[in-house]
Amino acid sequence: ATMPPLLSAIATAGRHGVLVKSAVVMERLGAVDRVALDKTGTLTEGTPRVTAVRGEETALALAAAAELPSEHPLARAVVAEARARGLRLPEATDFAAEPGRGVRAVVDGHEVRVHRASGTHGDTAVEVVVDGAPAAVLEFSDRLREAAPGAVAALGRLTGTAPTLLTGDNAGAAARIAAETGIDDVRAGLLPHEKAEAVREWERAGAKVLLVGDGVNDAPALAAAHAGVAMGRAGSDLALETADVVVVHDELGAIPAVVALSRRARRLVV
Ligand code: ADP
Ligand code: MG
Repeated sequence: ATMPPLLSAIATAGRHGVLVKSAVVMERLGAVDRVALDKTGTLTEGTPRVTAVRGEETALALAAAAELPSEHPLARAVVAEARARGLRLPEATDFAAEPGRGVRAVVDGHEVRVHRASGTHGDTAVEVVVDGAPAAVLEFSDRLREAAPGAVAALGRLTGTAPTLLTGDNAGAAARIAAETGIDDVRAGLLPHEKAEAVREWERAGAKVLLVGDGVNDAPALAAAHAGVAMGRAGSDLALETADVVVVHDELGAIPAVVALSRRARRLVV
């Protein structure tokens, strides 16, 4: 048999490193008319580094101990910084993650919380709180993916709508990455359910939303979107499972290509 157009398109997408999970999804991709993207791990490489520790190194060690089980990119950066400084990480128990906010744990008998804070110069920042008292602020920088401006511009042209940045990060860090990417429409400081609510709002108004994300915090929005796309390498297991499409090697440029591919395939389906 000749391969039906949508299946043939899935095979082509696969050769370009895009895993489209079904023919229904391949069909939906071509219908999207609005795009929203997450910041950390999606527009950025998702491998942030600690650029400043404002406070005692002991607070950094406590924060790293509390972040040890977290798969969040900021958590990995905190642990890497503590290790690079040769700090001993104390034993921690009672780990709890608060997606989109931070983590907490009991470390060396202290209640330690690491959670979001507003940065000073457009930086991503977190505050370390020990037994209820602010102990340090950690600042981070993360590189924009080289392909981000081109991919976002192409998605804007294809859909005829300016793409939106949806992020849990602070407004300053969001504005900086948006400016570097060429995005004008930014919503910052969002919790995971607020990202999903933004998507549902557009869908209720008649839009068909393509949502690109990578984190555990993006899973509700990925599920709410007409088409949810996860970054394969940067992506958490939950994001990869929830998404309709996985960009296996994190190539942002493959996303507009697969939307265009879907549109060609749809024209062949009668
Ligand atoms: P994004 O939308 O950019 O992917 P998240 O929703 O994952 O960001 O996180 C939003 C903010 O919450 C982060 O910028 C950070 O301040 C804080 N945060 C989330 N998870 C953690 C964590 N494991 N450790 C420290 N801070 C965190
Ligand atoms: Mg992210």
